[in-house]
Amino acid sequence: MTHDTSDISGADAHGIDLSSSDFATRAIHAGQAFDPTTGSVVPPVYLTSTFVQDGIGGFRGGYEYARSANPTRDSLQELLAALEGGSHAYSFASGLAAEDTLLRAVLKPGDHVVMGNDVYGGTHRLVNRVFVPWGVTLSTVEMTDLDAVRAEVAATSAAVLWVETPSNPMMKISDIAALAEIGHAAGALVVVDNTFASPYLQQPLSLGADVVVHSTTKYLGGHSDVVGGALVVNDAELAEKIGFLQFGVGAISGPMDAWLTVRGIKTLAVRVERHSTNALTIAESLEGHPALEAVHYPGLASHPGHALAARQMRSFGGMISLQFAAGPAAARAFAESTTLFQLAESLGGVESLIGYPTEMTHASVRGTALEVPENLVRLSVGIEGVDDLLADLRGALAALDS
Ligand SMILES: *Cc1c(COP(=O)(O)O)cnc(C)c1O
Repeated sequence: MTHDTSDISGADAHGIDLSSSDFATRAIHAGQAFDPTTGSVVPPVYLTSTFVQDGIGGFRGGYEYARSANPTRDSLQELLAALEGGSHAYSFASGLAAEDTLLRAVLKPGDHVVMGNDVYGGTHRLVNRVFVPWGVTLSTVEMTDLDAVRAEVAATSAAVLWVETPSNPMMKISDIAALAEIGHAAGALVVVDNTFASPYLQQPLSLGADVVVHSTTKYLGGHSDVVGGALVVNDAELAEKIGFLQFGVGAISGPMDAWLTVRGIKTLAVRVERHSTNALTIAESLEGHPALEAVHYPGLASHPGHALAARQMRSFGGMISLQFAAGPAAARAFAESTTLFQLAESLGGVESLIGYPTEMTHASVRGTALEVPENLVRLSVGIEGVDDLLADLRGALAALDS
């Protein structure tokens, strides 16, 4: 039995109607009714695998066994649906588990997937190394070139158009509303990986997308302490298919992970505001530095996607990539010499991180159309004091000359 989480009307259990509330209010209250037994302001973590039945089939609140549903997971799912403007959300053990479940729900052998030519490396690897051997076909396209996308989805009768914006790590911006129209005209399901923006900055369902994918590991969790993923949809039939596979395949998020993710999401609005202002300050300050061939940040007027990002996003987020004029050795030396920016994969946490995608996050796409420039370094700008972050980056730039 799958637990029905379809009643995500915005009216919360403690009687607050959140349907017209501000994002920051929903982030704190949706799915977060206080515990009715004790009044505990924070809903408890339901660390249980199963639920006592009042006689055979007598389920309390519909709960039977924790793979099918757990109240803590429901709380996260309700919150995610409220933030993305979806009717249903499902949470998973990782972003890739969410993607895998979605693709199993909507693809069959012989179907074709079109994705951007700089999507997250693991997404490409999942389709290319897992689904392609099962008879799915894959092609990549420049997602910012709408004519190219239109031609590709028509030529391949694509079943899925997979969009990621801003993209990773090139920070390209693609037009979700236009791509939704193009995908739908060709009969494709339009999926947007909203990990980099988070629902605070953009809500793809409202722009016409069919499915939002998240690695909640990143901005949603926000504290680099939990791995997770999610799918959000606005269609009952699609929700039913995903819900069945969440239960039937079982790549669920555990209650502690779901609870930590909810806890992180409460501060999403303030965190992403600060990530964005810090990143804009840094991008503006580094642009034009003689050691840098390019600073990729959609908040810069020089960025080719700037006008579109200004329309489509609330602000420009915390991710920047830098290309070094002196080549790969300079990029590597820089990535290894910052101190506040710690050398690690992942992104979206309160602490700043630096990565060398070619050999880290994007090692799996070397030699494919998704290959990342070898002189590129990616910054996940945290919410520390921006002067400290700038001093760290400037110090590492100065060290390149010595
Ligand atoms: C990290 C990431 C994923 C994969 O999520 P995991 O939680 O690591 O499985 C997917 N898409 C994007 C854009 C990511 O950054």
